[in-house]
Amino acid sequence: MAAGKPNPIPKELVDEFAAALPKGLVDGLAEYIHDSWWEEKAAQGFHHPSEKHKEWDAKNPKKICDKCHLDMIPYADLPESSKRFDWVTIKNTLGGLRLLGYHVHPNPRRRKFDLAAWRAARRQK
Ligand SMILES: [Zn+2]
Repeated sequence: MAAGKPNPIPKELVDEFAAALPKGLVDGLAEYIHDSWWEEKAAQGFHHPSEKHKEWDAKNPKKICDKCHLDMIPYADLPESSKRFDWVTIKNTLGGLRLLGYHVHPNPRRRKFDLAAWRAARRQK
């Protein structure tokens, strides 16, 4: 079977779209994306090596078993190379939305969604 070729959004266009995004949007989304990824990996049985292995050495960080993942740490502590993976995903998602005819606009009142209130309301159901 012949392998297909990828058909990504041209990088120059992704960068052009990203340059028009509000400052902080990509990084703000990246933290949510990272934390969701982290939760999913944990559900699949993955862990940071410091959680499970006595031989973990922070000065020489490396995987110890097949279920170790070094990026299962808070977003702020990630190396830039790992953050870049989230940025690429987000910029391409937002770029893909534009190509499909959608635009992302801020809430007119610039109010953030009240996640704490949403969680409290769900607990009462
Ligand atoms: Zn492990």
